[in-house]
Amino acid sequence: MTEETVVRHRVPAGHGLAAAVRAGQHVSVVNTPGTQVVDTWAFTSEPGEHLSMDHCREVLQRLWFGVGDTLVSSRYRPLLTVVADTSPGRHDTLIVPCSTAMYERMGAAADHRSCASNLHEALAVVGRSSDVVPAAWNLFMSVPVGGDGALTFERPHSRAGDRVVLRAERDLVLVCSACPDDLYPTNGGTGRPRDVHLEIGGSDAA
Ligand SMILES: [Zn+2]
Repeated sequence: MTEETVVRHRVPAGHGLAAAVRAGQHVSVVNTPGTQVVDTWAFTSEPGEHLSMDHCREVLQRLWFGVGDTLVSSRYRPLLTVVADTSPGRHDTLIVPCSTAMYERMGAAADHRSCASNLHEALAVVGRSSDVVPAAWNLFMSVPVGGDGALTFERPHSRAGDRVVLRAERDLVLVCSACPDDLYPTNGGTGRPRDVHLEIGGSDAA
């Protein structure tokens, strides 16, 4: 059994971070303050292929994904398996990542940071780009669905240090955004974004 070093990365409040993850590696998305939503994307080396909430809902036949589920790409290929989740789960898969247009619609300043711009900035840092902003897996974001289909935006129910542990099924670029939203009740506590962390490394054998 080999012990692989786990590298801890900070995702600054309101900003994004892209990181390369090898097939078989584990990634922990750590909700350090417990109140922070983390928009999460994954991209393969194939142009246009990315983690797809639409395809995951079809394959897994549910709205929310949890331990044991393997999340798939826009080409139905396995990308990430959920290994552990210490949070209450039910991470939103429906709500579009926040964007400049969303903040403009809500009357915020035109230069308000957004998950969409964080995605582009983070990909550029690792020499990648995406023509689209795919729907993110909105980790720790709580949007219950009523029996009549009504959506309710709630503050996160997670606790400080809650984590979602994922195993990469392919070599990926993972992107996480500590959502800058301070308008919806998306981020709990004061509603201000907070730092979160990624821990990359380790495997099933470690
Ligand atoms: Zn956001």
